[in-house]
Amino acid sequence: MKSSTQPASQICSICHASILPSYYFCPNCGNKVNTPPLSTSITTQIGIYAFSIILPMIGFILVTKWPGVQYFKSKDEKTKKIGIIAWSLLILSTLITIWLAYIWTLDTIQSVSQSINTDMGF
Ligand SMILES: [Zn+2]
Repeated sequence: MKSSTQPASQICSICHASILPSYYFCPNCGNKVNTPPLSTSITTQIGIYAFSIILPMIGFILVTKWPGVQYFKSKDEKTKKIGIIAWSLLILSTLITIWLAYIWTLDTIQSVSQSINTDMGF
């Protein structure tokens, strides 16, 4: 659906100068006339992908270099208890991180698709 408020030829809403459709800013007054939807979504996508690639790697590095593993493997009961507590905290913080990443990703996808819809006049 094409919105009736969207002009067929671009005219700056501030100074009414004619603007090429490829322009993002009015050359006359600097008013923002077009938001670049593709670059925004690609940046956001790269952010999401990078995040989902880097996050498990950070987790892996942390676990392999983590002293909690040695504590957990210890035969001494007090030391092992520290390891168990450390493990519980690690699992808990991992779950919270995954949950926050999930909410953040959903929120970002929603706002990106919303901005694309607005730009295309749907
Ligand atoms: Zn202008």
